[in-house]
Amino acid sequence: ESPPINADFYGVEQKLSAEDHALKMKVSAFLEAEVKPIVNNYWLHDDFPFELIPKLAELNICGYVYEGYGCAGGSSLMDGIIASEFGRIDPSIATFLGVQSGLAMGSIYLCGSEEQKQEWLPQMQQLKKIGAFGLTEPEVGSGTAGGLTTTCKKTADGWVLNGQKKWIGNSTFSDITIIWARDVDDNQVKGFIVRKENPGFSVEKIKGKMALRIVQNGLITMTDCVVPESDRLQNANSFRDTAKVLQMTRAGVAWMAVGCARGAYENALEYTLKREQFGKPIASFQLIQNHLVEMLSNLTAMQTLVFRLSEMQDEGLLKDEHASLAKVFCTLRTRDIVSRAREVMGGNGILLEYNVARFLADAEAIYSYEGTKEINSLIVGRSITGFSAFV
Ligand code: FAD
Repeated sequence: ESPPINADFYGVEQKLSAEDHALKMKVSAFLEAEVKPIVNNYWLHDDFPFELIPKLAELNICGYVYEGYGCAGGSSLMDGIIASEFGRIDPSIATFLGVQSGLAMGSIYLCGSEEQKQEWLPQMQQLKKIGAFGLTEPEVGSGTAGGLTTTCKKTADGWVLNGQKKWIGNSTFSDITIIWARDVDDNQVKGFIVRKENPGFSVEKIKGKMALRIVQNGLITMTDCVVPESDRLQNANSFRDTAKVLQMTRAGVAWMAVGCARGAYENALEYTLKREQFGKPIASFQLIQNHLVEMLSNLTAMQTLVFRLSEMQDEGLLKDEHASLAKVFCTLRTRDIVSRAREVMGGNGILLEYNVARFLADAEAIYSYEGTKEINSLIVGRSITGFSAFV
């Protein structure tokens, strides 16, 4: 008889209050019942399960950490636990929520005026309006801090935006996209709430992705796209304000990676306990146990790291380099864990129905988005050496 699978080896989740634990269980039960059974098929068909949107709204977890505007005003720790639970079942749905709740709502929460927050946050919290976040461009990915080519220019009618944005999650169906553009007059980065019906704004779906296939990523083109001054994020005055949003969401990606790794580990361990070769469960072989222990070691290190990360966030101590270090470490370790999970499952490891292949593929995208390993490492490097090595 094998012991029950316990992927919280150091019991970090025992620190949660009874109330937080109940919310975690509610989210987990929802994911098992409503999300797990359908995701492989949607992933295979590169399609989004729109029927989940009202059910996700009922969970009341969008914008979980924000105060007011219908949001729960909860802790960063619990927000992370939720992201991890989603990642554990499906990194694509976790990413959909990360874009809505973190990148899009976060931009408005951190950089919007009171009127803009009143207009958008309650509706987005309820997922009645969907948001996207457009920073990356076809020719400018890692270099967005100094190199945005999408421009904005103030005119008598408001602002005129020109340029392209690539990879923008949710943008094929979002009601609004936060667009970051460089002001041709003062050369500073500004943010805009661009509505899907804005003239001069068009989106084309990016096809052929081999990771996070449920997330609908778009290529946005803006041609003399006119946006009123009232839709300019009133408190976004430079890239420093964009970076505030990214600091928060990178912490979320670290948690999501923990979930992705945990999902793969749990499925792989379960498989090795059942699968027999040479007349014995493969889990009884030393070389398989070594893989399992390597996975658990990394997972446990990640879990303890993100717990402290969120505590720092809640204590107001989080800096860019802390979020970047967690993002790098967790997404890098996740890549190792998902590949070992696949390995111990032999051929079945590459079949979607065995619930590890999706994590294996999705880990690649998580590793690269919200700043690659190199860019986040350079943010940490700058903080510990005082030298900026970006250029
Ligand atoms: P590049 O910047 O071209 O980098 C290529 C390689 O060069 C990388 O390994 C990089 O680390 C390395 N490199 C670049 N500069 C340096 C340097 N100075 N020193 C050392 N190495 C360097 N963006 C959004 O704005 N919104 C979204 O919703 C969004 N969703 C995404 C979803 C998915 C599935 C993916 C894959 C991407 C998404 N992105 C989104 C874009 C993502 O943030 C970028 O892909 C990422 O920032 C890297 O940019 P790039 O792909 O252009 O790579």
